[in-house]
Amino acid sequence: MKAGSIMPEDDLAAQAREVLRHVWGYDGFRQQQAAIVQTVASGRDALVLMPTGGGKSLCYQVPALMRPGTAIVISPLISLMQDQVATLLQLGVRAAYLSSSLEAHEARAIESQLLDGRLDLLYMAPERLVTSRTLELLQRVPISLFAIDEAHCVSQWGHDFRSDYLGLSVLAEQFPNIPRLALTATADLRTRADIIRLLRLEDAEVFISSFDRPNLFYRILPRLNALEQLTDFIKREHSQDAGIVYCLSRAKTEKVAEALKARGFPALVYHAGLPAAEREANQTRFLREEGVIVVATIAFGMGIDKSNVRFVAHLDLPKSLEAYYQETGRAGRDGLPSTVCLFYGLQDVIKHQQMLAQSEGSEEHKRHERRRIDAMLQLCEATDCRRQLLLRYFDEHMAQPCGNCDICVEPVATWDATEPARLALSAVYRTGQRYGVEYVLEVLTGKRSERVLGNGHEQLALFGQGQSVALKTWRSLFRQLLAKGLLLVDVDGYGTLRLAPECRGLLKGETMLSLRQDRDTVAGARSSSAGRARASAQVDSADQPLWLALRARRRELAEAQGVPPYVIFHDSTLLAMIEHMPLSLREMRQIGGIGDSKLERYGDEFLAVIRQHVDEVA
Ligand code: ADP
Ligand code: ZN
Repeated sequence: MKAGSIMPEDDLAAQAREVLRHVWGYDGFRQQQAAIVQTVASGRDALVLMPTGGGKSLCYQVPALMRPGTAIVISPLISLMQDQVATLLQLGVRAAYLSSSLEAHEARAIESQLLDGRLDLLYMAPERLVTSRTLELLQRVPISLFAIDEAHCVSQWGHDFRSDYLGLSVLAEQFPNIPRLALTATADLRTRADIIRLLRLEDAEVFISSFDRPNLFYRILPRLNALEQLTDFIKREHSQDAGIVYCLSRAKTEKVAEALKARGFPALVYHAGLPAAEREANQTRFLREEGVIVVATIAFGMGIDKSNVRFVAHLDLPKSLEAYYQETGRAGRDGLPSTVCLFYGLQDVIKHQQMLAQSEGSEEHKRHERRRIDAMLQLCEATDCRRQLLLRYFDEHMAQPCGNCDICVEPVATWDATEPARLALSAVYRTGQRYGVEYVLEVLTGKRSERVLGNGHEQLALFGQGQSVALKTWRSLFRQLLAKGLLLVDVDGYGTLRLAPECRGLLKGETMLSLRQDRDTVAGARSSSAGRARASAQVDSADQPLWLALRARRRELAEAQGVPPYVIFHDSTLLAMIEHMPLSLREMRQIGGIGDSKLERYGDEFLAVIRQHVDEVA
């Protein structure tokens, strides 16, 4: 399937499309893929910034098959290499990885395949590549290109810094004529500049894709009873789907997983405190089985390439929009509708304000941290399209509201909170700015608790003046006052509230305050989107038996080979089978995601499932 070297651009484009069609069974490239493939196929360097699920892999895999020689792919994690190699082998592409997990004789076998020119792609970790032994080996064989995956690992600004990546500058020195392609989903300017400088990509063409993830439905709800809300959400929208639930603490992941199991969901725990073997076993089950839910700390994620994660839920507020975007980005890599749902509450806001107050960095560092948290809170308290706000944060402009977030689907009602807010601020002030929310609420709602009586606060003129407002509304109001920076939390660690200078206008009656009216159930927050975010729900009830039968066959085939089901076929390919009901191999070949190799391996198997279904229905 390899072709010669120099070709006119048009021929290159046509050749790339042929490779895409025959090997992957896809009709066309997405957005910038075609241009990137052409750049690399014609021997030039490239830097590719694309969101998770955007389709970065094809950007180097297609040119790898177009150019003579073996492509060397640098990847930070074994699990990522394994997943990629398993996927490529299914496509009939000659791929392998070298890692310390292999036996010496296995590694030697792969090296001799490389020397014999029997590999299209070879994956390895950076620390292995930069050894003189590997570099000498690579000098002896034709190389089509170098692809540096997760290239942000070279930057200390990012969260995944790996010092081994710094050694990759050696590629520019030792292989000046071989195209290098760096890929990442981390887009910020400092990281980008680092990648260019440290990987010596000054001459690379830079491709920046939109960071929008149109198939993700964004939902953020105030947290009341997190467990009830979570199970309600999963039951209604993702009852048979795989998902990730993020919690802040290890203890909480265990508690939530237990609760989900008790309610009949297949839930597993993942956090850094588990024994390595258990962690790995849980991760493997999540990848290999269908519909498993992992309840995890943020230790879980890097290296999770599972394409059909249908939901990501957060039970605690992420510390920044960058973190939120990365974690939610693990949903819906296959492009099918998926939901991300964040539950957050007053306690989150207090905790974050507290951490900020106590942080010990320089003033500049604190300002930076405050901006990051403020942006996260703004997203939570938004009254306009969430996606527009998110993308704006990443310097991207979206002209119209998206139509695929909770606010677009059901606009947020606001209410005039001027009077109650004034009352709340006065209560904080009159009690001496020495108490937390719960105490101030006791005073506002006229509770004659021991504490209140002991302080004589039942004497205050405003004692009990807030009785007509529901407790839930008061909490929502305090949360929003904190999120807007009108109230501050003290450094003392007790959640003591004090007034921010910004609230003066409100207290003096010069400004008004409009707040969002909280909605707290998933049911309240969905309408036209009902069930839209569920891949299984795209299947009519009449087609459910076929959907289940196709999934069952996929699982059998996957288990027999010890690979995850999505490596055999993506959900989208099975859904296309249901839609088009192919009854011959020729018709099967038209389905997206079925290239030559998969048609040959699995075409008949899946045709049999469809035929049997047709017979039963007839
Ligand atoms: P990334 O590495 O950017 O997160 P992947 O390369 O894993 O994304 O691609 C995400 C999914 O999109 C994969 O399932 C891939 O097969 C699919 N995909 C990528 N490009 C195309 C395309 N041109 N047509 C159809 N599906 C595609
Ligand atoms: Zn929207």
